[in-house]
Parts: sequence; C-alpha cells; structure tokens
Amino acid sequence: MNVLIFGPNGSGKGTQGSLVKQKYNLAHIESGAIFREHIGGGTELGKKAKAYIDRGDLVPDDITIPMVLETLKTKGANGWLLDGFPRNIVQAKKLWEALESANMKLDYTIEILLPREIAKKRIMGRRLCVNDNNHPNNIFIDAIKPNGDKCRVCGGDLKTRADDQDEGAINKRHDIYYDTKEGTLAAVNFFKDLANKGKSTFIQLNGEGSIDSIKETLLKQMK
Ligand code: AMP
Repeated sequence: MNVLIFGPNGSGKGTQGSLVKQKYNLAHIESGAIFREHIGGGTELGKKAKAYIDRGDLVPDDITIPMVLETLKTKGANGWLLDGFPRNIVQAKKLWEALESANMKLDYTIEILLPREIAKKRIMGRRLCVNDNNHPNNIFIDAIKPNGDKCRVCGGDLKTRADDQDEGAINKRHDIYYDTKEGTLAAVNFFKDLANKGKSTFIQLNGEGSIDSIKETLLKQMK
C-alpha cells in the first residue's frame, strides 16, 4: 500500500501517519526527519539544508526532490507512507511523474484539516523523544502530555525543535502550507483531482478530535 499524508505542521499528521505505517507495515518516509538525520550526521546535504529549515523556508527543490525520490526507490519497494512531501505544486507534479514512470500506484491521499491557530499552539507544545521520533509528546495535549519532563512512552529525554519554538518560522511554514496557488494546498488539490479521476482514494479528516477518534475514522476508510 502506498499513501500520501498531508496536514499543516501541528495537525497530528506525523502521529496518524505512524499509526497507519504500523498497521500496514509501511516504510515511513518523512522528508523533515531525513533532513534532520543529515543535519545530525553533519553531511553536506545537511549543511546545505540547515539554514532553510531554521528559518522555516522550504529546502530548494533541486535538493529535496532527488533526495525523497531516491529514498522512495531504496526504502519504498514494499509500500510507503510519504509525510512532508510534496510541499508545493512542483514537488507534487514530479512525484506523480516518478510514480507513473515506476508503475507505482498511489492507494490513498489523506488530508488532515486544522485551523492555523490551533496548529500553531500544538507545534509550540511538541516535544521530541530522543529515543524514538514516533513517540508523540505534547505539553498542550492532555492525551499525550509528557511524564514530567520525560517521554510518556519510554521515559526518554525530550527535546524541542528550534524551528518549533520560533513563531516567525512557524508562520512561514504555515504560509507555505495554506498557499493554494503554489504551496502545499496546491499539491493537495493536485492529488484530489487525481482521486476524482479514479487514480487514488482521497480521505479528508478533521484534525481537532482526539488521536484515537481520528485514527478510528481514518482506518475505517482504509481497506
Ligand atoms: P517537518 O519536519 O515536516 O516540519 O520539516 C521541517 C523542515 O524541513 C521544513 O520546515 C522545511 O524546511 C524542510 N522540509 C521538509 N520537507 C520538505 C519538502 N518537501 N520540501 C522542502 N523542504 C522540506
């Protein structure tokens, strides 16, 4: 199964994505996490990407597109969930071209809806577990409040992302997301059109509910 998941930063798309990934045993390909690994490892790509990420800008397409398409090829043969890519209309078209030429189908396109102000608060409350990127912790969401200052899942140390604590960077990320002309919502609409032509199934979810209720609504719509 191959799945695209969209949602503004802070909408819970990473959390829902990792639940879908577990259920269907998919490779979770998350562009932001790949960049953070490169930055942590001090690679050339990481050095190039860091300044863009710290400001909340998109990393240029000539770096991002080959990186993600290569990861899809190497890790995605048995099904993937793509999270954080595509983020603009150019990336959307390149992804679709690559899928068509590799004869790869797109089973589901998921979009999580969330008003901007709620998403912003959630971003600022987000805490990352140093042991596992998929352990959700958020100081503003009761169901996933950390245990003191430790991860609620494994007790590991928690850290924040610099770009999550910088309001300017958050606003920029959201400007890009909610841009229907060239930004992420343009990419969402591109895949919605493909779904209308029968080329994948489009699932839209309200991101304001609890993690469990959103998960239940989502999984009911997937076979
Ligand atoms: P995320 O973890 O999805 O919030 O991504 C963190 C940062 O990585 C973004 O703010 C961008 O700077 C960069 N990034 C992630 N995915 C992409 C993408 N598809 N295109 C360009 N930049 C990206």
